[in-house]
Amino acid sequence: MFRTRFAPSPTGPLHLGHAYSACLAHDMARAQNGEFVLRIEDIDQSRARDHWTTGIYEDLTWLGLTWDGPVLAQSDQIPSYRGQLKSLWDKGLLYVCTCKRRDILAAISAPQEGVPMSPDGILYPGTCRTRGIGREAQDLPDAVLRLDMKAACHAAGTELSFQETGSGPNGETGLQRFTAADAISDIGDIVLARRDMGTSYHLSVVMDDALQNISHVVRGQDLYDATRIHVILQKLLGLATPLYHHHDLIRDDVGKRLAKRDDARAISRYKADGATPQQVRARVGL
Ligand code: GLU
Repeated sequence: MFRTRFAPSPTGPLHLGHAYSACLAHDMARAQNGEFVLRIEDIDQSRARDHWTTGIYEDLTWLGLTWDGPVLAQSDQIPSYRGQLKSLWDKGLLYVCTCKRRDILAAISAPQEGVPMSPDGILYPGTCRTRGIGREAQDLPDAVLRLDMKAACHAAGTELSFQETGSGPNGETGLQRFTAADAISDIGDIVLARRDMGTSYHLSVVMDDALQNISHVVRGQDLYDATRIHVILQKLLGLATPLYHHHDLIRDDVGKRLAKRDDARAISRYKADGATPQQVRARVGL
């Protein structure tokens, strides 16, 4: 069965880009007689606010969207993320990293060639991998748990791929294969748990897509590059890889990607200005 989701973070108002993503996922599910579920990605408790969660329900309802079954709040899943982290730690796939941003920048071997980037920020040079810092240090300020990508790829096996039914930022579509060597060199040792969250976007999204039985992930192209990380985690955790459908990003009149702080494009603003849900749909090309 086709089952997809909308998974906003309640850290600001939903804007036109969210309206597009939510309506597209919803319409695809309804057209296939499938299901559309909602998940509130509120692991970043320093930024998540209840009034933004309330706003999500209001905006989706105003747009005429209905969702199936209970809403999953990631803040209720922290114990299960922690359990998974413990098991990855016990398998020797994680290590504690105490590097600050400036340490990471200082350790980059050829800074004159520019700061190497991964889909998750600066490509980590691996400084703490062999330092054997004990797990108790995880409670130090700034300490994070990183995934040892080489060990992870070894455990994940060689068959690394996903099906793209939409398109990536460079028109990628169909079966997307990648190798462990690519993951080690291009993605590197990503952060799997931040101390303040007790988890990370990547770990939580993968676990919850599986928990909510998502068959198709419909989301913006800004997350396309993160998909390889998600595939590796799915393999490591023994979870099925859903199909992915990445869609274009809605841009403002000068072609800039919409951001959360772009209140002028907030759905609630359109509503307050007297627009109809149909006009909002038309504005995003639906
Ligand atoms: N929570 C993410 C966001 O609001 C979306 C995550 C996803 O769709 O994978 O950007």
